[in-house]
Amino acid sequence: MKSKILIFSSFITLMALVAIQGYLVYNTYELKQKTMLIDARGIIAKVYNSPQIDSIAWLYRNDFSDNLRLYAKGATTKNELVDRLDTYCQQINPGFIEAFNKGLLEHTSHYGIKIQILANSITLTDSLGTVDSLYASTDSNLLLLGNSFDKSDGFLINNSTWQNEYDFEFENGERRLADLEFKTYVYMNISNGNNLIFREMTAILLLSAMLFLFVVGLLYYSIRNLLKQKRISEIKTDFINNITHELKTPLTTLSIGTKTLKVAQEKGDLNLIDESIEVIDRQNNRLQNLIDQVLKSSLGYNGIVLQKEEINASNFLNELLDDYSLTLNKEISLSRNIENTGVLMEVDSFYLGTAILNLLNNSIKYGGSELKVSYSLDLKEGNHKICIKDNGIGISEKYHKHIFDKFYRVGESYTHNYKGLGLGLYYTHQIVKAHQGSILLESQENEGATFIIKIPIKS
Ligand code: ADP
Repeated sequence: MKSKILIFSSFITLMALVAIQGYLVYNTYELKQKTMLIDARGIIAKVYNSPQIDSIAWLYRNDFSDNLRLYAKGATTKNELVDRLDTYCQQINPGFIEAFNKGLLEHTSHYGIKIQILANSITLTDSLGTVDSLYASTDSNLLLLGNSFDKSDGFLINNSTWQNEYDFEFENGERRLADLEFKTYVYMNISNGNNLIFREMTAILLLSAMLFLFVVGLLYYSIRNLLKQKRISEIKTDFINNITHELKTPLTTLSIGTKTLKVAQEKGDLNLIDESIEVIDRQNNRLQNLIDQVLKSSLGYNGIVLQKEEINASNFLNELLDDYSLTLNKEISLSRNIENTGVLMEVDSFYLGTAILNLLNNSIKYGGSELKVSYSLDLKEGNHKICIKDNGIGISEKYHKHIFDKFYRVGESYTHNYKGLGLGLYYTHQIVKAHQGSILLESQENEGATFIIKIPIKS
């Protein structure tokens, strides 16, 4: 529970850290964007207010004024008036763009600034207050001057209105006064902007990513260590419980044995004396075996000193199984499929025998009643292959990963039913490793288990 809370809080802290870091990076981005916009606006103001640009802007206004007079006289329609404005602007626009870009160059701007001046609305109000709407912007605005780009890709930097008073004079001498209101938008677009900002922020982004990876790595390492320590501590507790239990039974029997011996001695009952001595002897052996098992288990494969010899594996296995069969109860069957391969196996027969007997004993201990041992060559992989198969309780796949670990025993519910120290498979694995071999487990819960020992064929 404690470690779960610890892992959960570390995870939440990590998330919070990532969120804060993300927020800071985003803030930096926004700040840089703002600075860039202020910079760009300053540059545009300088270029836009230059006399050359101003005179170009007056070109279309003057032309529009001329056309407006024609319109007032009824010589053109409203649509023609706007079309002429559009056509005229298209004519002078290249000159405007050139002048604008030249102005930008003088300010060594590297932002890639573009501007566009769009018509917003054009109205003519006569002296009686009647408003004539000549143009009203729709979704697609009339581009007066500048580059064409989507409004949504730019920033609105100015809203300006050109106002002019007209005194229209007709041929019949009639005069008409009117006020023009010509509203425009100025948009700017910074094509290089994001690239520039990201380039400037590369160091921050890289550092953030590295820091994030470092913290995640650290957290992963710590959590892995924590879980490992927890597992070791659980295994140790299990081991102590198991060994205490294992020692208790022979010790209790020993104490009963010695008491019975005393009584038998007092009575002079020779039969009872013999029986008691046998019990004491058996329990003594059992204790000795237990202690041997613990002592042997301290040997890793490096500590196992092999006395290798070249043996005929089929002879070796047949002899081993013949002897083993003699110790088996009637309910247990042992079948074999031992090939006489004729290829010698270079092993320490005592150690390899111990490993195989460990597996056979486990097969019986864990519910097996039909044991099958087979031996053949795996020429593809270049191995001698010994399989020990049983029909016992099997091992669920989720336990396979740790099954050869020192002191490892499968699940709590099993430890109650089957006594042991969790050293047998560990020791077997170490013996096989000392032979440069490998051991595999194929098993499912309730479907028996097969252990496969592979020993390399001597080249
Ligand atoms: P022990 O038998 O003393 O517990 P082992 O190292 O021999 O220790 O075995 C480790 C665990 O592997 C056992 O606790 C048991 O759950 C499981 N096991 C080993 N061999 C078999 C088998 N043939 N069938 C089912 N389970 C097995």
